[in-house]
Amino acid sequence: MCVVTDEHPGIDLSRPNAARIYDYMLGGSHNFAVDRAAGEAMLARFPDAALAGHANRAFLGRAVELCCELGISQFLDLGSGIPTAGNVHDIARRHLPDARVAYVDIEPVAVAHSRAVLADQVGVTITRADLRDPDQVLSADGVRGLLDFEAPVAVLAVAALHYVAPDDDLPAVVGRYREVMAPGSALVISHGSDDVADPAAAAHMRELAEVMATSATPAYLRSRARLHEALAGFDLVDPGLVDIRRWRTHSELPDTAVYGAVGLVSARRRR
Ligand code: SAM
Repeated sequence: MCVVTDEHPGIDLSRPNAARIYDYMLGGSHNFAVDRAAGEAMLARFPDAALAGHANRAFLGRAVELCCELGISQFLDLGSGIPTAGNVHDIARRHLPDARVAYVDIEPVAVAHSRAVLADQVGVTITRADLRDPDQVLSADGVRGLLDFEAPVAVLAVAALHYVAPDDDLPAVVGRYREVMAPGSALVISHGSDDVADPAAAAHMRELAEVMATSATPAYLRSRARLHEALAGFDLVDPGLVDIRRWRTHSELPDTAVYGAVGLVSARRRR
């Protein structure tokens, strides 16, 4: 149970939010009663919701490893969440010890806990910013001062873009990040959807979105076609946009109804 309250006046304890519900689902301790109640409501409707969260973390790990194999040593992690096992800098530095990571999240508990965990890390920053405002993110000291956008950067938006409302024009938001990404850069996304082959998985994802609708951070599902629109201009690595449980791994477990993809910026497609 998280006991930070007065020290972090920006925290809204009246409603659950994505970072803290996700922390609860992953077995973390930086969440409040409202978040645990929302997590339990999700588990009541979709008992495998926590497993889907772990599948998302596993996807993130595989995607970061691929970026390292491609020689990318800089990471901008949008909607990075509350630190947990397998953080991006831990994974990346196993492969590339000098990897630099700029974490960005909007949620005060995620930012405060990240700051505490990262205090002794050189080459890793945490910035509180809104990923829907790319210029705010890209001009922040923790991002601009750490990452060199003349060289390849991996921009991660893992389980984060479904908090961008339909009115917020997701392709334009992603497009603004793409404009500053040098050739050889990569975009990593995962995103909930009910446009999937398995009707049970689709129904479970709609259940999760219904619970999130009562939170401070509603989640919006997108069709596969809408996600492809957001990925326009990126060359998707194999196997393309697929369920995270099918992305460069084999699992006997059912689909999660969370799509994942990694897209590369090629020289001719940068803008
Ligand atoms: N990326 C991590 C992962 O995949 O394990 C955490 C995902 S968690 C489900 C979603 C995160 O996105 C939360 O920490 C939440 O605070 C953050 N988030 C939601 N809306 C955001 C926004 N507009 N700007 C920045 N972060 C946001």
